[in-house]
Amino acid sequence: MEVADVKKVGVVGSGTMGNGIAQVFAQSGREVVMVDIKDEFLQNAMKMVEKNLGRMVKKEKITQDQAEEALGRITTSTKLEDAAGVQLVVEAVFEDMAVKTEIFKKLDSACGPETILSTNTSSISITEIAATTGRPDRVIGMHFMNPVPVMKLIEIIRGLTTSDETTQLTKALSEDVGKVPVEVNDYPGFVSNRVLIPMINEAVYCVMENVAQPEAIDNVLKLGMAHPMGPLALGDLIGLDVCLSIMNVLHEGLGDSKYRPCPLLKKMVAAGHLGRKTGQGFYKYDR
Ligand code: NAD
Repeated sequence: MEVADVKKVGVVGSGTMGNGIAQVFAQSGREVVMVDIKDEFLQNAMKMVEKNLGRMVKKEKITQDQAEEALGRITTSTKLEDAAGVQLVVEAVFEDMAVKTEIFKKLDSACGPETILSTNTSSISITEIAATTGRPDRVIGMHFMNPVPVMKLIEIIRGLTTSDETTQLTKALSEDVGKVPVEVNDYPGFVSNRVLIPMINEAVYCVMENVAQPEAIDNVLKLGMAHPMGPLALGDLIGLDVCLSIMNVLHEGLGDSKYRPCPLLKKMVAAGHLGRKTGQGFYKYDR
């Protein structure tokens, strides 16, 4: 299969990441079928895509006609089987192995043998997901970054069994939708979260050990290392529960004590101080 043969894409899960992924593929001229468990979620996702495309029109990045055409290429469904007649599926449902496994098994039996099944997982093993299907050579990680329409990177994760052909096609397709693919191998946290989340965890240690106040720690990274956001503000944005769960994946998967989650991070999650989404993390937020 060549890039030009990929004319229709299935996106499973229409949340934060899914609707952005659908938008990006629709803007590349491809038909997209976006699947979720409730119509209400799909309607919200379509509103989000419309809003994001509208913003691009205002900024004169695309024309009104282009926005309408892209929106018109997205159809929605609550039936996973409706994603069957596609050349590529991108799964972006909850970060839960059981939920993902069930979807991959169903997709594997519903989709044609050529279809590439990809996942946007942040931390689950691509090799393990691939092993639940009858096409482990055609399963790959496409790790889009949030917000999807804006961020250039797609971390392309090769499972142990992913074929060269699948990897090359997925990379070429990523470029075709205007992104920059970076190929990595399947290890816990891949590259993005293996480097980013321990940095956030270390910043939490600095708070716990009173090395400095949160604002000071963030300022060191912002002003000294040109990070656009400090690690604690970023942890609040990602969600401290998500950061903790990724630290646990690194700790268990790599078996090295250097990945142990900071006790203060655990305590904040236990207290429900999850960051922006709860109004309280290392900073306070108006909800
Ligand atoms: P989300 O909670 O915003 O959306 C998940 C969506 O999946 C929901 O709309 C939910 O209804 C739907 N869903 C659940 N079970 C389903 C099923 N069986 N069939 C169809 N749809 C189903 O989650 P998100 O933040 O978009 O994350 C999705 C994936 O992307 C996760 O694997 C996550 O680790 C990964 N990811 C997230 C980010 C981020 O910043 N949010 C960044 C990179 C990767």
